[in-house]
Amino acid sequence: MINITNIEKFATHDGPGIRTTVFLKGCPMHCPWCANPETQSIHSVFMYTASKCVACKACINHCPSKALSFVNGHMHYEQTKCILCRTCENVCMQDAISFNGENWKEEDVLEEILKDKDYYDASGGGVTFSGGEPFVQFSSLLHLLKMCKQKNISTAVETTGDVPFERIREAEPYLDLFLYDFKHLDNIRLKKVTAGNGKRIKANLTWLLKTCPDKVIVRIPIIPGFNFEEALLKKTFHYLQDLGVKKLHLLPYHTLGKPKYEKMGKLYTMETSMMKEEELSSYRLYAQDLGFDVEIGG
Ligand code: SF4
Ligand code: SF4
Repeated sequence: MINITNIEKFATHDGPGIRTTVFLKGCPMHCPWCANPETQSIHSVFMYTASKCVACKACINHCPSKALSFVNGHMHYEQTKCILCRTCENVCMQDAISFNGENWKEEDVLEEILKDKDYYDASGGGVTFSGGEPFVQFSSLLHLLKMCKQKNISTAVETTGDVPFERIREAEPYLDLFLYDFKHLDNIRLKKVTAGNGKRIKANLTWLLKTCPDKVIVRIPIIPGFNFEEALLKKTFHYLQDLGVKKLHLLPYHTLGKPKYEKMGKLYTMETSMMKEEELSSYRLYAQDLGFDVEIGG
């Protein structure tokens, strides 16, 4: 079984052509700007939309574990008491409660992927496994990758790179594309803000670039207050150039994931203004001059 949050059809930003993107749960990093915070935990996540709630208390009254209550007019959820029976979700007539993450059989996920095979074949697309960090549920991921390859489906993974090397090595023959995040050059700063292991991310990237350089696109999320500094970005480009990176995507900071934080009862600690693509134009030119094939977004 594999725990996923969503299967997105006709995705066009997670690799070439028309794709199906499968979002897997679990991530070793905790980036405060994460657009999919509900995927960070490997467990199902309670989501509550206050604006839909009419305070009827049906969920509270039916919860067998007394995990829900109103505290000062706000819904309070105690994860340690919750047995994930989903009664609250079912009794809420306002659709104010949902749980994010569901266990699927790998074969059922494959069936969903196969439904759009004609589109992949016509557009040069395929399937992308995203998250979260898809390598966290490794045995399921590998099983799916092998099945996709047997069906001649092109495969991609969106990865933090912060995963055990053996998993990268074992999965590589079944992957056509690694969309590889590179968030910060400084391991200490990376660790402090995201809990990520920069040494491991760099080592895995180095191996991939030696083994299959044409399969790697490095993506840098550009985050104000974290890595959006001219000297740092230029130094990062030079570092990636030395490693042998050919394709680079610069991803401007956006706030599209913000409403999810509210639903999860979490505070969104980042800036609320989105970046404009034009803010990265000079960096695109700089990277192009270094020989990178560069895209903004992607
Ligand atoms: S899933 Fe079940 S135990 Fe958890 S809060 Fe809802 S009703 Fe209570
Ligand atoms: S059942 Fe739905 S509408 Fe009623 S209190 Fe619970 S969340 Fe609010």
